[in-house]
Amino acid sequence: MRVVWVLLLAVFSCSAMNGLESRLERQMHLWQKRLGLDEWNLSLRLVRQSEIDSNSWGAAEWDPANRTGTISVLDPRDYNLRGGELKLDMECTIVHELVHIQVSPLDARDELIREEVVNRIMAALMNRPCPN
Ligand SMILES: [Zn+2]
Repeated sequence: MRVVWVLLLAVFSCSAMNGLESRLERQMHLWQKRLGLDEWNLSLRLVRQSEIDSNSWGAAEWDPANRTGTISVLDPRDYNLRGGELKLDMECTIVHELVHIQVSPLDARDELIREEVVNRIMAALMNRPCPN
């Protein structure tokens, strides 16, 4: 019985995670459209902190030739925020990573300058403060 319960819990938490992932993916597609990146074939996945840089909430990998890429968003289990703030900040993370893809042809050499430009564009798009 306990085994069944554990299995049920596993299925539930797994489908909850898939639900979150697909909700974030829908959000990403809306922002893709808004940023004129709808020709890109992008996917989204939740990742643990160990899979991306510490002190970051997301990452992006992309192939400009094929216009494909993956946006990684930090798993809620490792996020420093909860509830509404978490939701808001995850959207900021998605927009931040999409802006990285959008400005990538400019390829700023200096990483700090690049982050500053990306954050300014993200903030302008969000038109509200981002919790992180
Ligand atoms: Zn960045």
